[in-house]
Amino acid sequence: GTMTVGDLAKLLHKDASEVIKKLIFLGVMATINQELDMDAILLIAGDYGVEVEVKIPVEEDSFETVEETDEEEDLVSRPPVVTIMGHVDHGKTTLLDSIRKTNVTGGEAGGITQHIGAYQVEINHKKITFLDTPGHEAFTLMRARGAQVTDITIIVVAADDGIMPQTVEAINHAKAAGVPIIVAVNKIDKPEANVDKIKQEMTEYELVPEEWGGDTIFVEVSAKQRIGLENLLEMILLVAEVNDYKANPDKRARATVIEAELDKGKGPVARILVQHGTLKIGDAFVAGNCFGRVRAMVNDKGRRLKEAGPSTPVEITGLTEVPLAGDPFMVFEDERKARAIADRRSIKQRQSEMGANTRVTLDDLYSHIKDGEIKDLNVIIKADVQGSAEALKGSLAKIDIEGVRVKIIHSGVGAITESDIILASASNAIVIGFNVRPDPQAEATIAQEKVDVRMHRVIYNVIDEIEQAMKGMLDPVF
Ligand code: GDP
Repeated sequence: GTMTVGDLAKLLHKDASEVIKKLIFLGVMATINQELDMDAILLIAGDYGVEVEVKIPVEEDSFETVEETDEEEDLVSRPPVVTIMGHVDHGKTTLLDSIRKTNVTGGEAGGITQHIGAYQVEINHKKITFLDTPGHEAFTLMRARGAQVTDITIIVVAADDGIMPQTVEAINHAKAAGVPIIVAVNKIDKPEANVDKIKQEMTEYELVPEEWGGDTIFVEVSAKQRIGLENLLEMILLVAEVNDYKANPDKRARATVIEAELDKGKGPVARILVQHGTLKIGDAFVAGNCFGRVRAMVNDKGRRLKEAGPSTPVEITGLTEVPLAGDPFMVFEDERKARAIADRRSIKQRQSEMGANTRVTLDDLYSHIKDGEIKDLNVIIKADVQGSAEALKGSLAKIDIEGVRVKIIHSGVGAITESDIILASASNAIVIGFNVRPDPQAEATIAQEKVDVRMHRVIYNVIDEIEQAMKGMLDPVF
């Protein structure tokens, strides 16, 4: 329940007028019947030297407990949500721009294109949603926050270049997320383009073209000359059809925040992707730790909407604060409820920031194994040379203790980067640096995401450490 100024005063054995004075001193204009948020309660209690223990009741429809209990007959097809990833300069941005332009046809004329973090195009009367921020960093950052928004990944490779380090990263990030991959071989307009070479290189990453007996779709495109784009869109629809993406539009909306910012004129705005249900004007919601009521909704063509169904990206106003990218967004029956849940969420977050970390570390691996929580130890390897990375991979793959296996989700050459740490965080992995160290940006992220990073110079020591950890025999490191 909620607490008014009067309730709090009674609890603290103080005069309500005294509490009101304090609140005014703190910049909160209050009356005796006013409801207080948790911050205000903690502040006032703290001021009186009273410790407050916050009990968080499990609410039936808080974020954590909502079950997706849709009946099969309530589910309808929804557009697939697509992310474009690949190496820098291979044409991700150009491809996103060109695809968007394939679609400025009669129906939507008059609208002004708006950047809202994602857009929709239509082909063969079917819609496809594209996330507008290319690259695997954004993709995996969202995953690290628990948001899975992408259905299909397009890996772009320039046909005049080849598979580059970020191409490999993109492939591994997509695989770690379990998202189907379509390869777009780009820049085929260039005389140096060599599509077969790209296909050949891709087979090393288990992406084998259909004509070579595999099951990966390769599409040849020129993002710049706008060649092959329709074919690419049709292939996306094909993958979507196979996977049969569905959602129930007839319930309160759940979405994910793609971007959010403080707009000078509009106040806090959030660009969100609706995933379940239908979002309507006036809906009370929680986004991360913020709450609000949908005041206005605009789509990527600058149109005002009254409602938005599954896979629709919209920009909304009506928030009290600015949420974070990747924050879950959920509609509640009324604003009072939304506010209570937002309060609870921010307290929980504060508590978990102070409390134990939830990431797997070698030190607590054994207890997770014992409790049956872990079957694979996810590992990311960064090494100084390719040879060492391969040797480590080979040795780690042979470890099998207590039925737990090591699963290498990414390996590469070079310093440990922020992207490695975010992938580790999203996939609950540890990171091994072999003769390499984290770069400065990665250092900060390691502390924030609480990822276990181990540096070694001898392969035997890596193997030994992991085996000991699996047996629960690791000496604690202080
Ligand atoms: P990103 O870093 O992956 O987003 O790559 P960009 O979209 O910024 O493209 C990098 C460069 O490649 C730009 O100069 C583009 O004009 C060029 N480019 C992108 N696609 C093509 C293409 O299909 N053909 C050619 N010739 N150039 C392209």
